[in-house]
Amino acid sequence: MARLDPTLEEMEDVKTAVSEAVTNAVIHGYQGKGGIIYIEVTVEGQEITVSIRDTGVGITDIKQAMEPMFTTDPDGVRSGMGFSFMEAFMDQVEVKSEPDKGTAVIMKKKISR
Ligand code: ATP
Ligand code: MG
Repeated sequence: MARLDPTLEEMEDVKTAVSEAVTNAVIHGYQGKGGIIYIEVTVEGQEITVSIRDTGVGITDIKQAMEPMFTTDPDGVRSGMGFSFMEAFMDQVEVKSEPDKGTAVIMKKKISR
């Protein structure tokens, strides 16, 4: 990403979005039991695409999972804002998921200069 000469803010936006997706893979996907998280980054022109994938439990209702404040956290510690942050900080967020197969979050952002 540094090659695209991003502003500090753009860098922080992508870092926050990636952190939310990775945290989701650790906590929800692998339910804290550990597993491999695949991170892929591609650059096309000034656009960066980051894909974060796990082979964990998957999501049954993706639309519902992406709604602000929706969480399946039983302890009430999580706020259910992870996907909302990803959508706010990136230009595009796509989620592909299948129960028992895993989840992939594909995020894109145009770097301005
Ligand atoms: P917060 O991110 O605010 O701590 P949260 O993780 O519950 O809370 P989101 O990140 O928006 O909120 O995710 C919403 C819900 O989507 C989660 O509660 C979980 O049920 C489901 N989810 C998200 N990512 C995954 C994943 N990688 N594997 C399985 N389920 C997921
Ligand atoms: Mg989350």
